[in-house]
Amino acid sequence: MNTKFVPKPLLDLDHALTELKGFAVPLLETQMVSTFDVDNRVLREAVVSALNVPPNDNSAMDGYAVHAQDVAVQGSVLKVTQRIPAGSVGTPLSRGEAARIFTGAPIPLGATAVVAQEECEALQGDLVKVNAPIASGQCIRLAGEDIKKGGLVIEAGSRLNAASLGIAASLGFKELCVSKTPKVALFSTGDELVMPGDIPPEQMGEGRIYNSNRFFLKSLLKRAGCEVTDMGNIPDDLEQTKRCLAQAALDHDLILTSGGVSVGEEDHIKPSVIALGVLHQWALNIKPGKPFAYGRIHRAHKSSENASGPKPSSTENYAHFIGLPGNPVSSYATFMLLVQPFLSFLQGQASVQYRHIPMRANFEWLKADRRREFLRVRQNDQGTLELFPNQSSGVLTSVVWGDGVVDNPPSTIIKSGDLVNFIPFDSFLR
Ligand code: AMP
Ligand code: MG
Repeated sequence: MNTKFVPKPLLDLDHALTELKGFAVPLLETQMVSTFDVDNRVLREAVVSALNVPPNDNSAMDGYAVHAQDVAVQGSVLKVTQRIPAGSVGTPLSRGEAARIFTGAPIPLGATAVVAQEECEALQGDLVKVNAPIASGQCIRLAGEDIKKGGLVIEAGSRLNAASLGIAASLGFKELCVSKTPKVALFSTGDELVMPGDIPPEQMGEGRIYNSNRFFLKSLLKRAGCEVTDMGNIPDDLEQTKRCLAQAALDHDLILTSGGVSVGEEDHIKPSVIALGVLHQWALNIKPGKPFAYGRIHRAHKSSENASGPKPSSTENYAHFIGLPGNPVSSYATFMLLVQPFLSFLQGQASVQYRHIPMRANFEWLKADRRREFLRVRQNDQGTLELFPNQSSGVLTSVVWGDGVVDNPPSTIIKSGDLVNFIPFDSFLR
């Protein structure tokens, strides 16, 4: 038989992302969580201020509150008639008077400026001499200058960080409405894989390797705000693969696997997902990370003995499925480029964008690929980029060594000094 192998056309990464965004219907369920504990969660109800911050005009310095016109001449002397520490409220100030005031204390009525204590000289008989020229409004923080009452402070769909917790607390929010945490079942696949600790390095048989994807994927999932169930390793067997996936679909929102996603005889992911639901298998136009699969696994009814077990966050009748390539760097890269945004969309995050920073290369890359490449690089002290010498998709050292990737368009060579697009690793997880 004369069968000619016709390769599938490669799918553009941005196109794949758009497709994934369409599949990632945000989890409907939200929950109220203590402001102490919402770091890295996605806000689903906007934070709107019920007050002005600061709530009133207050002093930016320790010093004296005065009427600016009373000290128009340098060396003016005023009578100190009151003392206002932070937390207390003064009385109206008459012309010719000064109030001893401290940082954060409300400005008394009638005062139009604060003179820092370093500019003043306290004299006998509760008098103060002002030694510097001053301007009206000086050293006064105005009510609402940070946040206005009724103002939108954090938009729904934002991923919260340490600073957002602080600002929400400063507005009196003791809890915030955030997306439920997606429940993710994580599997690795492959008969060759050994768990560290099961066999010591000196006794590892030929062809066996330690399972690394299971470790970094669990860590990346947790950073992406997921609750992870480590489901272990699926042997290269069709029936076992189907059983594991069907079981995991019952109580998870997403099933994430690595390896076995190609079309070889030992790759059982594809037929299993097709048997249990639907599968989109893509050959992506990127390097590393060509094979990638998205699908859905229908939830069979739970048997009565486990019906009371944990529930997925999603109320849909299917679990999402994503199959990553087995090669560790391909797995890592596709997680960052596609799974991370998918999970953000699932949590209701409004926009997900990698941060591209134009930087100069301090290396040459003359063997450009026809696919869009993500080259592992590191910033040096001169503010340019160094390339990791081995860019093979099996060499995880490149990710450990590097602090980001160069997003290199298809068939583009790089000469030393060229401007390239740098994406720091930490910008993926925003
Ligand atoms: P596969 O796609 O299953 O053919 O795997 C491609 C390559 O990645 C093979 O060399 C596998 O041994 C390797 N690989 C697959 N899964 C893992 C894993 N969890 N940890 C380390 N290497 C893996
Ligand atoms: Mg395999």
